[in-house]
Amino acid sequence: PPRQNKMESGLTEMKIGFIGAGNMAFGIAKGILMSGYVRPENVKVSAPSSNNLGRFQEMGVAVTHSNQEVVSSSRLVFLAVKPHLVSTVLQEVAPLVTQQHIVVSVAAGITIATLEGLLHPDSIVLRLMPNLPCMVQEGALLFCRGTRAKPEDGTVLRALLAPCGLVEEGPENWIDAHTGLSGSGVAFVYLFAEALAEGGVKMGIPSALAHRIAAQTVLGAGRLLRDSEKHPAQLRSDVCTPGGTTIFGLHVLEKGGVRAATMGAVEAATERARELG
Ligand code: NAP
Repeated sequence: PPRQNKMESGLTEMKIGFIGAGNMAFGIAKGILMSGYVRPENVKVSAPSSNNLGRFQEMGVAVTHSNQEVVSSSRLVFLAVKPHLVSTVLQEVAPLVTQQHIVVSVAAGITIATLEGLLHPDSIVLRLMPNLPCMVQEGALLFCRGTRAKPEDGTVLRALLAPCGLVEEGPENWIDAHTGLSGSGVAFVYLFAEALAEGGVKMGIPSALAHRIAAQTVLGAGRLLRDSEKHPAQLRSDVCTPGGTTIFGLHVLEKGGVRAATMGAVEAATERARELG
């Protein structure tokens, strides 16, 4: 990149590792590399099999089967294995994690206290909850800092992840609610998109076309909502001509209890995340 501020030039030199090469690791790695500030030769990823390593190699990222190698050659390490493997993996790499390392876990339900308990007490740990649209640089990511992580560590993570989408910091007790709102929320929006398309089919539009139009409607509505920074109620009322089509449709949705059902869905998913955690 032609012009860089101090933070960005720091990122250029930073060695970044991923333990686990699944969808989440790939989505985050892709986002990070898209920024152009992190060079692929400074990134290393490990997984026991070669099944998922090819797509990292295609981006120019170094790959290995050794988690320890990732830790020893990185300053910031993303822990991106399934939650039930976190303790095995951290026990394996703990002796190599120094106070210079920043460990960022994306494992759902694994708390800061658990992570810190598995590492040296002075280790710098952050917990990150991403969602799937990270894959297309439109994620909604919330992170919290562990006991030893300084605000500057959060700033580094935020700068690094900016190309993955919206990145926010909060207390750990928001993480489960974020999982309900945004991790699971993605699926709630898919359900709505599917229903929109089926409504179109019922009214005579061919299925494939109805699904393409529904996807674009969700995307367009989302971009307008985000970019206008208006309250959704404002945008909704802007679309409602008195006596027009939209208010007739909205009335049916309200009678169906969509608002209460959606709030309840976020609540149920949050409570389930708490139970699993
Ligand atoms: P995934 O696609 O199943 O990938 C898991 C990766 O871990 C695979 O590459 C696997 O290796 C590797 N692995 C297995 N055992 C390992 C070990 N001992 N050492 C190192 N790597 C090992 O899972 P994912 O969807 O990316 O999820 C990863 C984490 O992200 C989970 O903890 C999940 O809770 C969290 N998360 C996911 C989402 C989501 O929407 N997907 C959202 C938020 C958080 P192989 O390639 O050899 O199989």
